[in-house]
Amino acid sequence: MLKVENLRAGYSGDDAVRGISIEVAERSCVALVGANGAGKSTLVKSVCGLLTPRGGKVLFGGEEIMGLPASQVARRGLSLCPEGRRLFAPLSVEENLLLGAYPRLPSFGPFRRAASGDLQRIYEMFPRLGERRSQQAGSLSGGEQQMLAIGRLLMARPRLMILDEPSMGLAPMLVKEVFLAISSLRASGMTILLSEQFAKSALAVSDRAYIIEQGRVVLEGSSAALAKDPAVMAAYLG
Ligand code: ATP
Repeated sequence: MLKVENLRAGYSGDDAVRGISIEVAERSCVALVGANGAGKSTLVKSVCGLLTPRGGKVLFGGEEIMGLPASQVARRGLSLCPEGRRLFAPLSVEENLLLGAYPRLPSFGPFRRAASGDLQRIYEMFPRLGERRSQQAGSLSGGEQQMLAIGRLLMARPRLMILDEPSMGLAPMLVKEVFLAISSLRASGMTILLSEQFAKSALAVSDRAYIIEQGRVVLEGSSAALAKDPAVMAAYLG
């Protein structure tokens, strides 16, 4: 569904992503694992049109999307859940979710009714959000905020979701909750690209993975095999 070929991207100086190729098959979960600064965020931002790559190819559903603005990429069904979540803190859980459907349902009148089936599905997947639908997003726990960020993305009915560093800033218990949520997303048939420095959880939840170091893929394969690879164990799994 997503194919990235020899992508190069960066900021002012050298490339931060130095010729990365990855593939994400439909209904699979693929992880990008690497330390801080390895280039994972730069890669996913380039795929989503938030950063203009310096070279390479990005194909989504067979169509070349590299160079398209982020809004156009999102309209094709490729959605990014950015690092740091970016919720509307003073708004309620439900208002945040409804805003996620806005690009899909631009007329505000019948809006809530049109989105009610989607809300229901999200509350079934994340019961905690349902219980807290009227609570201000800013007062949720870190793990709940991450689930809300994922829920808001689901409201747009994406074909592929990119989750950038969903464990960022969370206590270990909350990281566990978020990964359980990702697991149920995957079980529901969603296609997911997950960028994550928490290697153990990322490999446990994904089908395939790419290990990224200094802007390059240094290892790739099935997540189960990588989790047993001595080099991966030594560098990432303690
Ligand atoms: P993290 O988990 O810390 O976000 P990452 O693997 O996602 O790590 P990137 O954020 O892609 O890594 O960073 C790759 C390199 O690009 C780093 O050296 C970083 O300092 C640099 N970089 C990231 N964002 C910018 C920016 N806006 N301007 C200049 N350099 C940047």
